[in-house]
Amino acid sequence: MFQVKPPTRLQSLTATWLGHDVVFTFDATSETWYALAGVSLETTSGSYSLELNGETPSAKDPTRETTFSRKFLVGKGKYPKIQAKLSVESKFTEPSPEQQKQIEEGQQIKKDYLNRVTPDREWSGSFAAPAHAAISDVFGSERIFNGKTSSPHLGLDFRVPSGTPVAAMNDGTVLLARPMFFEGNFVVINHGQGLLTLYLHLSEFKVKEGDPVKRGQIIGLSGGTGRATGPHLHVAVRWQGTYLDPASLLRLRLP
Ligand SMILES: [Zn+2]
Repeated sequence: MFQVKPPTRLQSLTATWLGHDVVFTFDATSETWYALAGVSLETTSGSYSLELNGETPSAKDPTRETTFSRKFLVGKGKYPKIQAKLSVESKFTEPSPEQQKQIEEGQQIKKDYLNRVTPDREWSGSFAAPAHAAISDVFGSERIFNGKTSSPHLGLDFRVPSGTPVAAMNDGTVLLARPMFFEGNFVVINHGQGLLTLYLHLSEFKVKEGDPVKRGQIIGLSGGTGRATGPHLHVAVRWQGTYLDPASLLRLRLP
């Protein structure tokens, strides 16, 4: 979370960060502008600047702009390597031509939906855990599937039995609620400004695409559908096309 306390009153505050547009919201209680942003796992370590652009209220000049730049260091994160061998059905590692077709359709759906950025912020306040359960796998860990190392784990796993209610992490609109090859029964909530939360391997849907949802609302029941080694809840966070660590988002105390 970026927090900005400008010396003058602003009408609006926007920024660019790693090529993304960031829109700030004013919190009157703390007189601070705040916005959520992230860094992808692929970002090279280094110094990156946040380029701020504020508009000051003025009756005479229609556009009085103030700019400010601030550099932030991005360092290398440490993520666990999980040596335990997990086994999944061979259709997930050696798919048939028909399954390959389903995989490609799924990739297209994800390309179409998961990079969406809608301008209005639908979330407010802190994000809440989707289930009250132990964490069985963290973000960024590398796992081995049937002897082959897979790409880093881009979500957070909760150890829950099948049929456990799964709650929306914040307010938003249901963007996807449909079965997919790898994800199983898959729900995606759009919280606005490019922030999405994803809920995988569900046994049952409790919402449909287009439904507005509130934080804590039950959106489905957990399960083990799709590429899962057993029943669990995998949740992921996307921000403007980049996977972020859900645990980091859940730790933030937001206005
Ligand atoms: Zn997972």
